[in-house]
Amino acid sequence: MHVHDQQAHELMELVFAFTQERMEMDPPPLDISVPLEQLQAEAGQTITPEGLGGREVMRLFEEVLGPACLSIDHPRYLSFIPAAPTEAATLFDLIVSATSIYGGSWLEGAGAVYAENQTLRWLADLAGLPDGAGGTFVSGGSIANLSALAVARTVWRDAEASRAERRPIVLMSAAAHSSNVSALALLDLRSLPVDVDDADRMTATTIRAGVDALSPDERSAICAVVATAGLTNTGTIDDLSAAADAAAELGAWFHVDAAYGGAALCSSSRRDRFTGIDRADSLTVDPHKWLFAPYDCAAIIYRDPRLAKRTFTQHASYLDVLTETTDWSPSDYAPHLTRRARGLPTWFSLAVHGTDAYRDAVDATIAVTEAATEVIRTLDHLELVTEPELSIVVFRRLGWTHDDYAAWSTQLLVDQIGFVVPTSWRGETVLRICITNPRTTLDDVRACLPS
Ligand SMILES: *Cc1c(COP(=O)(O)O)cnc(C)c1O
Repeated sequence: MHVHDQQAHELMELVFAFTQERMEMDPPPLDISVPLEQLQAEAGQTITPEGLGGREVMRLFEEVLGPACLSIDHPRYLSFIPAAPTEAATLFDLIVSATSIYGGSWLEGAGAVYAENQTLRWLADLAGLPDGAGGTFVSGGSIANLSALAVARTVWRDAEASRAERRPIVLMSAAAHSSNVSALALLDLRSLPVDVDDADRMTATTIRAGVDALSPDERSAICAVVATAGLTNTGTIDDLSAAADAAAELGAWFHVDAAYGGAALCSSSRRDRFTGIDRADSLTVDPHKWLFAPYDCAAIIYRDPRLAKRTFTQHASYLDVLTETTDWSPSDYAPHLTRRARGLPTWFSLAVHGTDAYRDAVDATIAVTEAATEVIRTLDHLELVTEPELSIVVFRRLGWTHDDYAAWSTQLLVDQIGFVVPTSWRGETVLRICITNPRTTLDDVRACLPS
């Protein structure tokens, strides 16, 4: 269904004008979530038999629906993992939409796949993965981790006929991201936990203890070791070399979940924390977290992509023309077929700005994190919970109860000053800020600290 040319032209003007205005706001309004009843009252039924027309629907979006969504790219959005897409990446996202590129196969999207693969290669080089490594961009770290563990399971099962009926085990710490737990449930895998140190890190000692505690039966069932490079709660990095050693000793797959932290591979100061990442069989890095991409964009990269292809390629007669070639088709590397070429915004931005600009932007966020850490250290009423390793700071406000934290956080957002939600640490409510936006200044952080 194509709208009348005149109407299409008007829509273009409306949408481009809105986009330009939003992109030039510095900063955009932080905005706030509202109750369902309020949206029902203010937006009402938006889908009607006759249509409301572009002007009215854009008005609804600008005045009602948009303001009911937080601006994750606001410099004082410091919760969870903020987003900070470059203008280049955001603009190219429009082009990805406007060109109907099919990102699943070389046959249909060779140019896009070529550009996406150079982006994946940049990440693989940062990690030190060998020539031949490759993968695809999926919607998020959750699907990337699921993909990695699905391949690990297939590889383990295929190695011996007797394994067909066994339920393999994944070694990882309880601090690993929840998406790994959910992947294990979906894949019907068990996990055995590795202990962590007082910053939630798997160390050489805790990993050794975890391996030594395995029964012979368990030992023979380990299909993967999962290590995290940048825990989402604390930003700390597991001992990747020790985890790689354990995987090698057990003959298991080594997956590194660097969804958040992987960006620091391109920093000038943190690369050494990732020693051992080059031994990964699979690696997750989310450009939509700390590599300045719009949602949604997560890379899953395999040391030997043929193993992923064996796991995921879909066979159907109407797809024969795709699967009978040796061309590189992104559909083969995750549980998906049709896919948006969601790596292109990151590719465009990298190609336009160059990789040095990425290093500088990540360095800038780390510098602000270090300065913020010093401020917290000097304030008597605040206390660091762990020593920040990347760009996450976890700290307590002395004397506060859970309710005090919750009330303060709510008020900070109601006052449209900033967005900082509490987290928990060993059962205690504490605060956590995450700085991935190069526009976040030390003053922004100061404005978001409790007095
Ligand atoms: C955010 C995160 C994930 C999940 O990524 P999504 O893109 O939100 O699906 C997985 N692992 C780690 C370490 C993360 O920080």
